[in-house]
Amino acid sequence: MKIVLASGNKGKINEFKNLMPNDEVIAFKELIGEFEVVEDRDTFQGNAIKKAQEIYAKIDDENIVVISDDSGITVPSINNEPGIYSARYAGENASDKDNNNKLISKLIQKGLERTPAFYTACIAIVYKGETYTVHGWMHGEVLNKEIGEGGFGYDPMFIPKDYNKTLGELPLEVKKSFSHRSKALKLAKQVLEVIL
Ligand code: IMP
Repeated sequence: MKIVLASGNKGKINEFKNLMPNDEVIAFKELIGEFEVVEDRDTFQGNAIKKAQEIYAKIDDENIVVISDDSGITVPSINNEPGIYSARYAGENASDKDNNNKLISKLIQKGLERTPAFYTACIAIVYKGETYTVHGWMHGEVLNKEIGEGGFGYDPMFIPKDYNKTLGELPLEVKKSFSHRSKALKLAKQVLEVIL
């Protein structure tokens, strides 16, 4: 099945390709080039729907399946930051490194060495003009430092529940077995089975 991914995030694109080895997953840029969707909704679901619907409308091919993922990390002890602002926590064009540094300084300011945190992923699917959404979560703790080079985004700061290493140290295969994105995608595949 050919699936257009409504994301420009290389880390996410790699994970989706790895999670859907039997499908042809293509990033929207390969079809329509640069196209910006303003993420101005106040929930992961709102932003996921907006990304998938705008890219579906732009591609203008009713047989295409468009999938988007809006995701992020939430840290309850610092007022649920960065949440939906995860990608732009340190500013509009912030890099992963800038965002991680901002989170590290917030945790240090609060005197927190490690504290509970969770990732959320909302996946929206648009097919034949109809929209469907599913969610997945991964719980654990966030550290006030980075360890390891693996994964992307906040992964080097995140220790999943029942582990003692960060996602920067653990192999992708481990993250894949319980990540927020894997769980949401498992449900998304069930939706696709029903609608296609
Ligand atoms: P989005 O592309 O607007 O959904 O932003 C997602 C942001 O959340 C990314 O830029 C990362 O900072 C963070 N994020 C989401 N999922 C993950 C993950 O699996 N690992 C690490 N960071 C993630």
